[in-house]
Amino acid sequence: MDSVELIRVKENVWIHRTSGIVGGEKIPANGLVVVTSKGIALVDTPWTEKQTESLILLLKEKFQKEIRFVIVSHAHEDRISGINIFLKNSIPVYSTSLTAKEAEKNGFTKPHPKLDLDPRMSLGDTGIEVYYPGHGHTKDNIVVWLPGSHILFAGCLIKSLDAKSLGYIKEANLDAWPLTAKNLLERYPDTEIVVPGHGDWGRLDLIRHTIRLLDEQHSK
Ligand SMILES: [Zn+2]
Repeated sequence: MDSVELIRVKENVWIHRTSGIVGGEKIPANGLVVVTSKGIALVDTPWTEKQTESLILLLKEKFQKEIRFVIVSHAHEDRISGINIFLKNSIPVYSTSLTAKEAEKNGFTKPHPKLDLDPRMSLGDTGIEVYYPGHGHTKDNIVVWLPGSHILFAGCLIKSLDAKSLGYIKEANLDAWPLTAKNLLERYPDTEIVVPGHGDWGRLDLIRHTIRLLDEQHSK
């Protein structure tokens, strides 16, 4: 339960995968590990603080590099639960101001809301861009784009190909979501790899699959 899995996606980019229990069901979630010449950037924390401690140790051991910062893609448990462990280790955690507000509302420590002003960052040799495409899974969901490797971390906005439903939709906007997903296709047409919040990574067809699921949901 406390284990952390690392899955290689491309040269210096990995998925960190941990499992949480929701409603008695075990649900694996994906975050991103970006290894650069100047240390490691992470997208999202594991589900639990214990898993976060394991992830920090694992990365130190495997890459012999420091974690420089963490980006939180929205203020849900599977994205932000480990925030206090990173802060305790003097690793800054960034989000948009909307996610910081939602985090506080959901009972989490607020990330540093610097991404509104700083959507494009670089760490060593690696560019990292965050983008808010609109309301979908939640009103604060952002994506993270790696222009050097053409990887789009789409988080819970995009479903894996084997997903047969949209998952947790209590905070979703089902009318806006298809347009939000199409924004990603328009902005990042040369994406090679799409990493969803849960399940296997793939290509741009993950976005089209999500739009199909939204169409089905609408005609229900
Ligand atoms: Zn979520």
